[in-house]
Amino acid sequence: MIKENVSKILCELPGGVELEAVAKSRTPQEVLEAIDAGVKIIGENYVQEAELAFGVIGNKAKWHFIGHLQKNKVKKAIRLFDMIETLDSLELAEEVDKMCVRENKAMPVLVEINSAKEEQKFGVLPEDVETFIRRLSRLDNVKVMGIMTMGPMLGDPEDARPYFVETKSIFDKLKALDVSNVEMRYLSMGMSNSYKVAIAEGANIVRVGTKIFGERER
Ligand SMILES: *Cc1c(COP(=O)(O)O)cnc(C)c1O
Repeated sequence: MIKENVSKILCELPGGVELEAVAKSRTPQEVLEAIDAGVKIIGENYVQEAELAFGVIGNKAKWHFIGHLQKNKVKKAIRLFDMIETLDSLELAEEVDKMCVRENKAMPVLVEINSAKEEQKFGVLPEDVETFIRRLSRLDNVKVMGIMTMGPMLGDPEDARPYFVETKSIFDKLKALDVSNVEMRYLSMGMSNSYKVAIAEGANIVRVGTKIFGERER
């Protein structure tokens, strides 16, 4: 089923939009099946799970971190991942920068926006994003490539639309600022139930788990 699901979604995606297969709680075999069907980006919420999967899959796809990154996992994360989509604090950014200096690499990141301003969610508030990005631009080994949002987890994807609209407008505004060392290229938003709405509102990376792999059991 995984192959059929991926093919169906890839057929529907407009040009310029990338499908990220969200692998949390899936086996490396399941993830490989998605890659064989044409997925080029794998999203992982957990560093440890990614490490195991990476041992099997290696560089057959790009690895994006989409969970909440703890400081003590940064060193491992920058070795494993091609992008961190959930950068949400200066403290974390400084740790990433420090570890990247040691590893002699630059880490592409997206800034996570708490677009629905939910207290229980991580992410930078819309009104704080510009200041935050200007600070990040001074870290030589952290390379801002865009922004990401979860939006509210509601049943009806239409309820997410206003938050996608707002995040797109933040994206456009940041792009127009043209901050040095900041490139506004990726806008990651939309999940299984909402990715079509997200694409309509300007997403160019969509993060899909359930619709590729089925309901999560574990
Ligand atoms: C789990 C998850 C997704 C995918 O969710 P589905 O509803 O299974 O498609 C997307 N983004 C993040 C950050 C996630 O944690």
